Amino acid sequence: MSKTIMAVGAHTGDAQLTCGMLLAKHAMNGDKIVIVDLTAGERGTPAGWTVNDFRAYNVECAAKFAKKLGGESIVLDTPDGELYDTKEEELRLADLMRQYQADAVLYHWKNSLHKDHEAAHRITDNAIFYASLPTFERPLPPAPIKRFMCAENWEDEPDFTPYYWFDVTEAFPLWKEAIKELWLAEHSPSFKYLRYYEALSIVRGARIGVDHATCFGTSPTAKRQKLDLL
Ligand SMILES: [Zn+2]
Repeated sequence: MSKTIMAVGAHTGDAQLTCGMLLAKHAMNGDKIVIVDLTAGERGTPAGWTVNDFRAYNVECAAKFAKKLGGESIVLDTPDGELYDTKEEELRLADLMRQYQADAVLYHWKNSLHKDHEAAHRITDNAIFYASLPTFERPLPPAPIKRFMCAENWEDEPDFTPYYWFDVTEAFPLWKEAIKELWLAEHSPSFKYLRYYEALSIVRGARIGVDHATCFGTSPTAKRQKLDLL
């Protein structure tokens, strides 16, 4: 039975770069992909653009990325740099999780150099709670979220440890084609995004004996394993 995988990023580009290889693998497996960008990342405006024009362009690029995976892109209207963990943001995201009946959620790690990323982590954590809890009354039924894990993002490095490792070798070419739809992948003057995430997938892959891998972290409490005997 096909699943619905929702990836949540603070800015357009975050989820596509860090979760995109796994999303591509699920897309190839027949699963439904939904990418939610909590802001459009419009304040990384290149020279010669207005913030409004760059916002519209990023929304268009996110839609093209999702389309290549046969999925959907949702870019919310909170201004870039002004993302805060409010109940309104949490419920808006929780309602999307319920609307799409998400089975799994991928999102930011808790620590980051970027305040919007840390806010996105807390917003998503609480949205998962509100989306899953049957006794929390909302117009839509609860979402069947079974898995949630945090992406490996270069800005979210403090205390991040890879825990889940996925072989994404077969999906890598689809991701690489799709990620080129995003302006920052190859054109950002501040960071070589495509080069970094491609190299990271090779490094992670080498550790598990495949060409490309992508990793996710989890909270210490989720690492508990119940065993009866050795
Ligand atoms: Zn970001």
